[in-house]
Amino acid sequence: MPPPDNSPPVSQLAAPVTTLWGIGSERARLLARLEIFTIRDLLLHAPRRYEDRRKFLPIRDLKLKEAATVRGKIVAAGVKRFKHGTRAMFECILDDGSALLHCRWWQMQPWMEDYFAVGREFLVFGKPETLKPRTIDHPETELVEPGDDEFVHVNRIVPVHPLTEGLTARVLRAFVWRALEKFEALITEPTPAPDLKVYPARANAVRMIHFPEELPDVEIARQRLALDEFIALQIQIQSRRKKFEASARALPCRGDNRLMKPFLAQLGFKLTEAQTRVLREVRADLGGVHPMRRLLQGDVGSGKTAVAACAAVMALESGFNVAVMAPTEILAEQHFRNFTKWLGPLGVQVLLQTGSRKSGEDGGLMMEDGKSARPSILHPPSSIFVGTHALFTSGFEIPKLGLVIIDEQHKFGVAQRETLVRKGNYPHLLVMTATPIPRTLGLALYGDLDVSVIDELPGGRGEIKTFVRGGDKLPKVWEFIRGKLKAGRQAYIVYPRVEESTDGFKAVTKEFENVQRALAPFTVGLLHGRVKPAEKEAVMGDFRANKLNALLATSLIEVGVDVPNATVMLIENAEAFGLAQLHQLRGRIGRGAHESFCILISEAKNPEARGRLKVLEATGDGFAIAEADLKLRGPGELLGQQQSGAMRLRFGSLIEDLALIRQARDIAAKSL
Ligand code: ADP
Ligand code: MG
Repeated sequence: MPPPDNSPPVSQLAAPVTTLWGIGSERARLLARLEIFTIRDLLLHAPRRYEDRRKFLPIRDLKLKEAATVRGKIVAAGVKRFKHGTRAMFECILDDGSALLHCRWWQMQPWMEDYFAVGREFLVFGKPETLKPRTIDHPETELVEPGDDEFVHVNRIVPVHPLTEGLTARVLRAFVWRALEKFEALITEPTPAPDLKVYPARANAVRMIHFPEELPDVEIARQRLALDEFIALQIQIQSRRKKFEASARALPCRGDNRLMKPFLAQLGFKLTEAQTRVLREVRADLGGVHPMRRLLQGDVGSGKTAVAACAAVMALESGFNVAVMAPTEILAEQHFRNFTKWLGPLGVQVLLQTGSRKSGEDGGLMMEDGKSARPSILHPPSSIFVGTHALFTSGFEIPKLGLVIIDEQHKFGVAQRETLVRKGNYPHLLVMTATPIPRTLGLALYGDLDVSVIDELPGGRGEIKTFVRGGDKLPKVWEFIRGKLKAGRQAYIVYPRVEESTDGFKAVTKEFENVQRALAPFTVGLLHGRVKPAEKEAVMGDFRANKLNALLATSLIEVGVDVPNATVMLIENAEAFGLAQLHQLRGRIGRGAHESFCILISEAKNPEARGRLKVLEATGDGFAIAEADLKLRGPGELLGQQQSGAMRLRFGSLIEDLALIRQARDIAAKSL
């Protein structure tokens, strides 16, 4: 997807770069490597840094290892041969009247002797390696040529753009300058535009981002251009939503409490205040004019499934069927079991279809034994269909589909979500995610969904203590875990890989025997993506029934698995995982009344990686962790590939620009 751009489609800005004087097919090919195809792309090619060339440092004042720009004339130049003449290095000496500077290139290029000719004047940027004599290896250089260009390349703050081989900063800067001179007048205000009393005009901002008069101008210009990007994005999101609301009528799914009362009575716990609040929002949607499009956020263990079940109950009461989708078979099976346990006794038919459960009657649907025989309160009876995406991609149509519940949204792409929902006659949609989405991303990405947050964990849970340790502590850790197993608790052991690979991270298949030995006499199960579905189910079943004391697994168990008796989570090579992912894994414990322990083993030597893990030691707040993860790793991890592709912004930052995103949302909303 191309980056959003809401400037008006002026054909000359959309013209290929070759319309600019000096750009032929060869240079166009180089520019294409920088994803610059049109004049507009060139004008929006954001500089990577700036050099203040209004004043240069006297060569005499250069400091060791401190980058600086100097300006001087070449007084000597020459080739030195070494290794019996097989290799050559090039050196020239620059004089600015204060001192001499040696510039060296260890790879001699054929053009150098002519280019760095004695008498020519150069700008040189780099870090002195030594001061005796003053020497810079492989500096960035620029020829100072008399004439107009002097105004573009020196005596001002100049941009240094992202470059590619064969295209120098000077050449690219000249192109941008030329493009501005010729086309600046065509850069008009987009509609809607931000308040020009607060922000510079777009055309000004484009000039300022390349050729600022003072350095603070850069940020002013960046904010204006970022705002334009966010407005374009918001227009996209909000108009999609508008169009949807204009065309889609909601199915009446509010329910009548017939089933809700007995359901809540036998649930075994009282809903938290947060759950109740969210449920009110959901009920209003289900009885509203437009189909529900709601994102339910809640930290791991906050009880999203119970809320989803309540929503399902409302739709069932209204005579509609419900689909529940999970990203993995394990999770689908678990939802199937929960929904069956909660709703089976009330006579609701709960059906399961996953990729590996294609056989059997009923179009491959499974029912938990005997439970379907119960009489239903509902006439006509309606059903809950639980499955992985296979449920929906198999061409299987659910009649009278009133509500679609998607668990763990971030595993599905936006496009996938849309196709799912189109399967029905605009059913209501409830998307649940345990990955707390930082507010910036939420606004930028899910502007077309309403958001509910469960910001409270059910009471009566044991505390989770988190420790980051080096591998040398493993013997003690095993001993600690054996102690917990002896007390009747259970443990998860997680390694990053299924099979041994070159990256040196531990693999579950390879370490299985070691772990069994380390935990003997306790029993250990093995779970990873390549285990056959039937066996997976058997292992999970045994672990749930406490027939297995420990479970060795990959991050496969990251989402949803719910075994309250498990109180230890040991993760080796913790540095291989993202923070949000580690938080998800940690969410597998602390689900019962017992105190829980998360132990992160890392051999990472660099302090940055260790510091990252320390965030988990310090906080259990999923939102704080997600923000930290976003800052450290960018949005890709959180969004999944498809979604991050749509988020490529040239000037805007999903991490820093919350205020701009908010403004963009309001500006877009007013204009639609
Ligand atoms: P998540 O939000 O991570 O999907 P779950 O829905 O799996 O969380 O809930 C985690 C556990 O908490 C489950 O065992 C669930 O039955 C239990 N639970 C949910 N709501 C409550 C509540 N209000 N009081 C006590 N336990 C609850
Ligand atoms: Mg869940």
